[in-house]
Amino acid sequence: MDFNFNMPVELVFGTGIIRNNTGKFKLGQKALVVTGRNSAKLSGALNDVVFALDHEAIEYCIFDNVINNPTMENVAEGTAFGKKNKADFVIAIGGGSPMDAAKAIAALMTNDIDPIDLIGNIPTNKSLPLIAIPTTSGTGSEVTPYSVLTVPSMNTKKSFFSPSSFPVVAFADPSYTKSLTREITLDTAFDAFSHLLESYLSLKSTPLNDVVAIEGIKAFASCMKALADDEVDDRIRSLLMYASCLGGIAITHTGTTLIHAMGYSLTYFKGLSHGRANTMLMGEYLGFNMEHEPEKIQNVLDILGFKSIIEADDFFNLGTDEKPNLTVEEINMYTQLAMGQRNVKLNPRKVIAEDIKGMYQRIFGGAK
Ligand code: NAP
Ligand code: FE
Repeated sequence: MDFNFNMPVELVFGTGIIRNNTGKFKLGQKALVVTGRNSAKLSGALNDVVFALDHEAIEYCIFDNVINNPTMENVAEGTAFGKKNKADFVIAIGGGSPMDAAKAIAALMTNDIDPIDLIGNIPTNKSLPLIAIPTTSGTGSEVTPYSVLTVPSMNTKKSFFSPSSFPVVAFADPSYTKSLTREITLDTAFDAFSHLLESYLSLKSTPLNDVVAIEGIKAFASCMKALADDEVDDRIRSLLMYASCLGGIAITHTGTTLIHAMGYSLTYFKGLSHGRANTMLMGEYLGFNMEHEPEKIQNVLDILGFKSIIEADDFFNLGTDEKPNLTVEEINMYTQLAMGQRNVKLNPRKVIAEDIKGMYQRIFGGAK
């Protein structure tokens, strides 16, 4: 056996944890708080952060303009704001979009480079210290070093990471997800599940990481009925956030695989949410990998209580009204873009372009 397991983020989990741990905010003199337009306020997280900063007499400024699926331009804007205000640490509040934007901003605050140069490179200087506070239970970004950014010049989303992009502290308070709509609750839960599944099946999976992934899959399984019946209460919200954090820890060690590689174009070109894009691909993904990882996939189906991949696919289409129809040209382009993502190489079964084309065709084919 041969593996490495490093989880450098202090994860503080539970309801009311920020007000009870204000001392952990002492990472600098002035915080740059990075949020989306509404969620930080709606969830109550911003109020708690302001309480903590006031309690510790730490100055702050707020950049509340992160867009969904943040772009290079968006993170450049946040960086300029942070520099103008002379912030020396960063606090991210929100779903994956603000958390990922904050990681890029924390790196750009200390490295005088164009945001595009983050992609595929480890910046020279360490990022500013970062605190991450999720308001969705999906990406697990609060415990990963990854930042997924939209790159218009490449027509896709690309991720960057560096060893100093791990948050120093993550405050995971499930009560912040109470203000989520049913649609976002479902889509983000499905993203968390796809991290757990893809990590478990990744070529980089290890026995220890499998324990984390399976624990998360079990937590997700215990939420499935409540998700289907729209009966998500505090206990379920807690389990979903637990599953999401475990998904983040799991992909920190393995990366994601084919689902994420194929899903990005569905978000970039068709505007599907990240989690929804992932789960539309679920049935084909499981079928494609079944012959290479029959035991692991059967284990997941058993934990989820499905008799077949078809049953699983039906469940993961919960809340999907209709799938986009793609033209042959679109399928060809999306295939090329997916093949260019590094996570394709981590898929348990070797993937060639024809495989991806076939999957897109079977799920979304049909448009003239
Ligand atoms: P998101 O894009 O951060 O947010 C989606 C929507 O949910 C936004 O309109 C947001 O509002 C709203 N929202 C968030 N929390 C809320 C709350 N508590 N109450 C009410 N509304 C709330 O969604 P996400 O799925 O969490 O993140 C997706 C992004 O993360 C994608 O860019 C994806 O590629 C990336 N991702 C990153 C990783 C990683 O490891 N870093 C892994 C998977 C995915 P506001 O606009 O007001 O914030
Ligand atoms: Fe994801």
